[in-house]
Amino acid sequence: MEGSLAHKRALVTGAGKGIGRATAKALLACGAEVIALTRTQSDLDSLVRECPKMLTICVDVNDWEDTENALKDVGRIDLLVNNAAIVILQPFLSVTEDAFDKIFGINVKALLHVSQIIARGMTCCGGGGAIVNISSQVAQSALRDHAVYCASKGAVDMLTKVMALELGPHQIRVNALNPTVVMTARGRIGWSEPTKAAGMMARIPLQRFAEVDDVVNAIIFLLSDRSSMINGVTLPVDGGFLSS
Ligand code: NDP
Repeated sequence: MEGSLAHKRALVTGAGKGIGRATAKALLACGAEVIALTRTQSDLDSLVRECPKMLTICVDVNDWEDTENALKDVGRIDLLVNNAAIVILQPFLSVTEDAFDKIFGINVKALLHVSQIIARGMTCCGGGGAIVNISSQVAQSALRDHAVYCASKGAVDMLTKVMALELGPHQIRVNALNPTVVMTARGRIGWSEPTKAAGMMARIPLQRFAEVDDVVNAIIFLLSDRSSMINGVTLPVDGGFLSS
């Protein structure tokens, strides 16, 4: 695993399940001190049982004040992975205000807020840092019934570029990852219908969905010194979907 991450302090949001959980474990295996953040305590309990060195914070990042309180004593963080997000499927004509507020509240507003808190710490301690925002292929390619989720990930892509622009002078690199369908538990359920899966798969030149490790490896790369001149990119992890 990547040596430049050893002894760094990392915060991963949405670390209870799926990509976030696997990322927290991978960072720990690289020798980083890792704080896993999510909103379900039982997920953190099981994570600590698996990885006793894992530090945890239980908070719903959709709550602005609770997030401020939960992170006020977090100390210096070198690496941030903004992974927490939700998806609610609704046809465009049926999109509700509640779904819009929930999706944008977590996927965009909370990502901005957590980044502000952590980046302020990075800037005042000096020494720079790296932030990876988990976006999606759907930030750049329309997907039926995903109007608000697509829009939220489009916002994440643009936020990433502005963060990279403003935080770059502090030697804080900010990049986004744009995975295609990933075979997390949620991904498997969402794409279990054969016709839906075949339609998407046919548009991926590598003709497979991403495994969790495909995404984790790209996150580790973007956090590590091996990507030290990469800043402000939206990196597809999509088997060629977006470029074909
Ligand atoms: P999961 O739903 O498996 O895990 C998401 C994690 O985020 C859960 O632990 C969840 O906690 C947590 N979380 C959600 N909302 C909050 C909140 N308000 N506060 C704190 N924690 C929260 O997602 P995936 O692993 O599948 O996806 C991870 C990221 O990858 C997301 O940004 C997603 O948009 C992106 N992505 C996923 C793809 C896929 O096919 N899986 C494809 C492309 C992008 P809880 O379970 O308790 O709600």
